[in-house]
Amino acid sequence: MDMILLGLPGVGKGTQAKKLEESLEIPHIATGDIFRKAIKNETPLGKKAKSFIDAGELVPDEVTIGIVKERLTKPDCENGFILDGFPRTIAQAEALDEILVEQNRELDLVIYLQAEIDILVKRLAGRRVCVDCGAVYHVENDPPEVEGVCDKCGGKLIQRSDDQEKTVKKRIEVNKEKTAKLADYYQNKGILHEVESTGGIDKVQQRLMELIEANK
Ligand code: AMP
Repeated sequence: MDMILLGLPGVGKGTQAKKLEESLEIPHIATGDIFRKAIKNETPLGKKAKSFIDAGELVPDEVTIGIVKERLTKPDCENGFILDGFPRTIAQAEALDEILVEQNRELDLVIYLQAEIDILVKRLAGRRVCVDCGAVYHVENDPPEVEGVCDKCGGKLIQRSDDQEKTVKKRIEVNKEKTAKLADYYQNKGILHEVESTGGIDKVQQRLMELIEANK
């Protein structure tokens, strides 16, 4: 199953993708995670991406497309992948089509997760992530057992620098129009499915699994 989770920042793409990765046994590929790891390790990619990410802006397409192309050629993608946070522009969507044609495969499903903007802002502002394993929590909706400590690996939980309220609003603004254009792009291809991302993490996961089963 080659699929994309589409939707605005905070809609739950990462949270849902991590669960899908376990049940479907295909990798969750999040460009944001790849950039954050590169920044943490101070690699050349990290140095290029940092200023854009800190400002809530998009990293240039030529940088982003290259890393996804490389990632999709890895053997663990053979049976499928879950893209999260990519594509974010039509140029990225077109580049993805080309990458997949080269690999003789095509997208099966694009899931457009939806929630109201004020819910997104609340989710992002309360989000905490593990510095070591990247696990995601929310101070109210999905707290860890011990405050500030990752349940999975014991790592420290922090607030992402771009989850401050000012940057959050900018990120939603930057992505709104682009996400709507991407939804049209995939609607025209007949592979877009909208899913309501409210009502609790497990409820949303159930909706996604039903949709995936129906499209297998
Ligand atoms: P995310 O974790 O998906 O919210 O991404 C965090 C930040 O990484 C975004 O605000 C962008 O600066 C950058 N980023 C992630 N994915 C992309 C992408 N596909 N194109 C451009 N920038 C991206």
